[in-house]
Amino acid sequence: MRPPLSRRQFLAASAAAALAGPARAAESKKLVLIAGTPSHPPGMHEFNAGVQLLAGCLKGFPGLETSVNLNGWPRDETVFNGAAGILIYADGGPGHPAIQGGRLALLGGLVAKGVGLMCAHYGVEVPKDKGGQEFQDWIGGYYEDKWSCNPIWKPEYKEFPKHPVANGVKPFVAEDEWYFNMRFRPDMKGVTGILTAVPPDKVRDGPYVYPKGPYKHIQEAKGRPEHMMWAADRADGGRGVGFTGGHFHTNWQNDNLRKAVLNALVWICKLDVPADGVESKVTDDDIRQNLDPKPGKK
Ligand SMILES: [Zn+2]
Repeated sequence: MRPPLSRRQFLAASAAAALAGPARAAESKKLVLIAGTPSHPPGMHEFNAGVQLLAGCLKGFPGLETSVNLNGWPRDETVFNGAAGILIYADGGPGHPAIQGGRLALLGGLVAKGVGLMCAHYGVEVPKDKGGQEFQDWIGGYYEDKWSCNPIWKPEYKEFPKHPVANGVKPFVAEDEWYFNMRFRPDMKGVTGILTAVPPDKVRDGPYVYPKGPYKHIQEAKGRPEHMMWAADRADGGRGVGFTGGHFHTNWQNDNLRKAVLNALVWICKLDVPADGVESKVTDDDIRQNLDPKPGKK
């Protein structure tokens, strides 16, 4: 039997416990999820519903906490304090939320400190002369207007690299607006294709979603495998991921597609991805939650 604690011992034990609490919390990694504003008909570019669904799937993942930010760039940029990883799932191009004002500089500072970055769907597109160089450096490549293309097609993903982001991902097929022919780093330095498939010739021949194309350089590459998702390592240890799917919201019900994305979110935070990948379930009810209001309705 232990003797009762003296008052001094009791106070010392309480202080130690108080210290242990916040210290434990600080050990968990913070993933900041940013959803873009609505732009498409229902079921497409459901960024708000998408990030909430992904955050729900990651709930309870050991050592990870999420910060969900809806309807555009966080109004309070202190959400980035202490971030381990950032996801931007939003419309891109000249209106990309990451290139407005001083945000490229803000993100550059975070990336230099080792914060991981993942961009999804239209969020992988930035103008060549505004963000292109940075995205290539940060996530390994970007969608370059008229160089990359954006057809809706149904790749067959049959083989995966030995990479944590591919852990537990089994062969699958999914129709989406899978962009390809990104402007990757020269020689793919530090870039690993995660979701790779050969587009059928008719996909290269177009039409693409916008502009309709076809582009000669895309048609001339018939038979070449393309990377629709990739993971990038930086020389300083930083991590980035690009994922070009994510047009159709219902694809989040595809267990293998979702697993690759969840694995990537864990990986950019420099957490270990389980050998079988991140496990999650998305029901028919889950997929109907948090959808953007239909145009014309309040
Ligand atoms: Zn789209």
